[in-house]
Amino acid sequence: MVEQLDELYREVILDHFKNPTHSGGLPDAQVKAEGANPLCGDELAFDLAMDQHRIRQVRFRGKGCAISQAASSMLAAALEGKTVAEAHQLIEAMKGLMQGQEPDGEIDLGDLEALAGVRKFPVRVKCAALSWNVVEQGLAEFQKSEVRNQKSEIRNQKSEAQNKSDF
Ligand SMILES: [Zn+2]
Repeated sequence: MVEQLDELYREVILDHFKNPTHSGGLPDAQVKAEGANPLCGDELAFDLAMDQHRIRQVRFRGKGCAISQAASSMLAAALEGKTVAEAHQLIEAMKGLMQGQEPDGEIDLGDLEALAGVRKFPVRVKCAALSWNVVEQGLAEFQKSEVRNQKSEIRNQKSEAQNKSDF
């Protein structure tokens, strides 16, 4: 498959596949998510260490085809330093790119742009998309748990206030 891509795209993708940046794990990561693309046999697990709402560090582990692993390496690099909101924008831009839409000029896709060539091969779009689908799911869980924490904090404050008024 990679052979069929344009030269430039192919080089960037193969380079990330052979020398992935950001591979490994983060034991104390606040966001952990994993997923698989059974059509191809790709498996991915992402760890994101958060600094409040900013993604401080990203590591991934995986196995599968060159596209899935290269996409993960590129995505990990693009996500570090971004806020959760910016990460969602980036992911939306990648989904759009896979459907043939040109990304908003304000969004810097970095090496991820090399995946534009994949959209000519619909089966392979799933290989590339696995990486951002896994991250998206992880971030959604993270945001849900944040909301839960805030609610329980409010509850604690209320019950504290009640306790005080009892005295
Ligand atoms: Zn694949």
